[in-house]
Amino acid sequence: MDEKRKSGISTISVHAGGLEDRDYGAVNTPVYLSTTFKLSDADYEAILNGKARDIWVYTRYGNPSRRAVELKVAALEGAEDGLAFASGMAAISTTLLTFLRKGDHLLTTLDLYGGTSYLIQKEFPKFGIDVTSVNPQDINSIKNGLKPNTKVVYFETLSNPLLKFIDLEAVAELAHGNGALFIVDNTFMTPFNLRPLEHGVDIVVHSGSKYLNGHSDVISGFVVGSEEHIGMVWETMLHFGGSMEPLPAYLVERGLKTFAIRMERHNTNAMAVAEFLKGHPRVRRVIYPGLDDYPQKELIDRYVTNGYSGMVSFEIDGTDEDGVKFMHNLKIWKEATSLGGVESLVSMPYNTSHAGLTPEQRQEMGIGPGFIRLSCGIEDADDLIADIDQALNSV
Ligand SMILES: *Cc1c(COP(=O)(O)O)cnc(C)c1O
Repeated sequence: MDEKRKSGISTISVHAGGLEDRDYGAVNTPVYLSTTFKLSDADYEAILNGKARDIWVYTRYGNPSRRAVELKVAALEGAEDGLAFASGMAAISTTLLTFLRKGDHLLTTLDLYGGTSYLIQKEFPKFGIDVTSVNPQDINSIKNGLKPNTKVVYFETLSNPLLKFIDLEAVAELAHGNGALFIVDNTFMTPFNLRPLEHGVDIVVHSGSKYLNGHSDVISGFVVGSEEHIGMVWETMLHFGGSMEPLPAYLVERGLKTFAIRMERHNTNAMAVAEFLKGHPRVRRVIYPGLDDYPQKELIDRYVTNGYSGMVSFEIDGTDEDGVKFMHNLKIWKEATSLGGVESLVSMPYNTSHAGLTPEQRQEMGIGPGFIRLSCGIEDADDLIADIDQALNSV
């Protein structure tokens, strides 16, 4: 792994992880569709010594196909170790419940992916876990939110749909000064654009269903960090049971081979789309971290490695109904939630992720009328822009 880490990210995407087929020399990782494995005397000894994770016993515990994709994602994030899950939510819930117990305090924010927000609000009270939500863009609010029993600080590196960034190093210093772990969800930025572990973050979680797999055909999740932390999460995973199956593991590993080249195109397409929207008379406001007027431009540029990913948000100069008309007018962009696939998607928070809020509550958060979220795919930028132009002009 150490040698792999010195390679460029495209080489890591293709070669890291993977599994050498010593029997037949297959260039690709074989798919080991087996729930259980023949045990040798050495295997029994490993089990007796508490080393069941290092051998193949039963696929909920571990599987060679799954290990291949875990090592690839760990190498991409520059982590010692990684673990693959059946979904992003399985990765997030298992990780948080590894490090939080009854009486502990979690410092987080309301500005989280909906699924994570519901997990924290609806499930954590059952476990007696105390939660405080702060504004992660305000360092003082974080400082004031920390308590003696704060064990975990949890944020997303780029928020949805307002694309707010976190000063990772400043937050890490506060968390560690308080004896807490700093865990982030890096789904939107991806390790192509940001490697949080290089900035004081302890553990990174992902929905692999988005950019990592990249083809909108597999639900999956990952957690990466130190060997010690991932070993602890592995034990919790055995109990909750959210491990990844071998076939999805193969598909995600295959998807990851083109990760760097896909991300390059997501980055440049989103930049081109954001710049085009910026100059369009039917557009009130554009949010993209690559634009000069992005409110945290100086901050984010201290951290990013390649670009700003494929998510662009904007407001049509009109109402939510105008936004819906715009979406219906599009020909290439598909109206769907989710993100990070090769195809371009469009959605509106008001009738999907933020439908539970009133227009006033949305406005207060910064989601005004006609707010649109774009996930820029890897098509030709000229085609994506021409489609947006005709759709805006015929609203
Ligand atoms: C999609 C998503 C999740 C949840 O992942 P699933 O794979 O759908 O379980 C978590 N966090 C973020 C930021 C996401 O976009």
